[in-house]
Amino acid sequence: MQLKHQSLLRQQCLINGEWYDSENGEFDNVINPANGEVIGHVPQITTAQTAQAIVYAEQAQRGWKDKTAKQRAALMQKWAQLMLEHADDLAALLTAEQGKPLAEARGEIVYAASFIEWFAEEAKRVEGSVLAPVQASQRMLVLKQPIGVCAAITPWNFPAAMITRKAAPALAAGCAMIVKPAEQTPLSALALGQLAMEAGIPAGVLQVITGSAQATGKVLCDSPVVRKLSFTGSTEVGRILMAQSAPTVKKLSLELGGNAPFIVFDDANLERAVAGIMASKFRNSGQTCVCANRIYVQQGIYPALIARLVDEVEKLNVGEGTQTGITQGPLIDQAAVSKVQEHIEDALSQGATLLTGGQPHALGGTFFQPTVIGNVTSAMKFAREETFGPVAPVFSFTDEAQAVAMANDTEFGLAAYIFTRDAARQWCVPEALEYGMVGINTGLISNEVAPFGGIKQSGQGREGSRHGMDDYLEMKYLCIELG
Ligand code: ADP
Repeated sequence: MQLKHQSLLRQQCLINGEWYDSENGEFDNVINPANGEVIGHVPQITTAQTAQAIVYAEQAQRGWKDKTAKQRAALMQKWAQLMLEHADDLAALLTAEQGKPLAEARGEIVYAASFIEWFAEEAKRVEGSVLAPVQASQRMLVLKQPIGVCAAITPWNFPAAMITRKAAPALAAGCAMIVKPAEQTPLSALALGQLAMEAGIPAGVLQVITGSAQATGKVLCDSPVVRKLSFTGSTEVGRILMAQSAPTVKKLSLELGGNAPFIVFDDANLERAVAGIMASKFRNSGQTCVCANRIYVQQGIYPALIARLVDEVEKLNVGEGTQTGITQGPLIDQAAVSKVQEHIEDALSQGATLLTGGQPHALGGTFFQPTVIGNVTSAMKFAREETFGPVAPVFSFTDEAQAVAMANDTEFGLAAYIFTRDAARQWCVPEALEYGMVGINTGLISNEVAPFGGIKQSGQGREGSRHGMDDYLEMKYLCIELG
């Protein structure tokens, strides 16, 4: 594929500042989900190479942590700036390997860079504390120190942002990081590695390895040198990684599945509620962990909301993300299409109503028609599993207590949304919702300033915000007996 700066199309792994093929010569193709074309290939790195990357990370981290926060911040700022300068190329790569519309991909690059900028600023604000001593002869203080070598395993739905959200706080804190991007979307990660090198981030501080998730994941988990693992992906794989990290008692940040409820009360502003659903549900063709997965609408507003929602959904433009005016790209792969179809069939067979869409798109491949389904009930798969596709399943409810109970009836607890003009309800319902994040009269809540993360089986730890740094820092308590 053609880029303005061809050096950003990296098809080797970044290990200790050098680019490597797999030592056994094996590689995986990278496929454009919009047309099935092979756009590149990346090495299937061996377990020995992964182990070597850990050794390099350990060496590099010693020098990196000894830099001042201001020095680390300056290099990170340069990295973020290079991302913005190369936003067109990075967006083109992202759309080619992931499928999202170019404008959305460009938005992701800006969003991804914002985490580097934010944590570069936060690097200078890591503060310990001096405690009131319990003995007059003592002084007590708390230091904050980088946790050490960290690893990140990231998903395909945000090929750039999921990397910076983890690498930026790690690097800011003085940690080294090894990133293993998703098999489907390694090229964005490798391009970010190239820009980190251009920014002057020392060799070994940020490394990017590709290949078998199981094999590299196991080496990273088994290593006692890797002190922390940050993972975004499915709850299923999160549990595996948690179990694999138990023998070395690694610190974990896990951002796992969601099953976001989106509750619209009778008193909501209808137009804004529908705009919120569109933004939350159909971004990235429904393939984000904070996408509305279950839309609960109070009975009084249900008919009007359904009518308006169908109108808006029918305006969406499905197609290749590189074409102008496209709002919905393809789904990532055939398995994603099958899951969407399975959820739709399950609901329709149990009495739900198809209001628009419902079929693979005429464009073929993994394109799917934006879909709205009404009369959905708790007995259907939509209620329990993340659909991860462009399907809006609409449930109805009678009162606030029922809405909260239905929303909380899941093992997940990432994002929730409510639309209401009632001031008391704007407080009480979010307080009752068992979720890490709640959008009130908005369907878009994620940014670098806010703590992103879930509760229950949606994970642990927070990314972004001043709290995001804590996941990469250890506290050390010092007690001094005065001589
Ligand atoms: P998704 O449904 O988003 O693909 P996954 O949890 O399957 O979610 O994948 C997220 C990331 O986890 C990807 O980088 C994938 O390669 C990686 N992964 C999948 N299985 C394992 C595993 N057993 N060990 C380590 N990483 C894994």
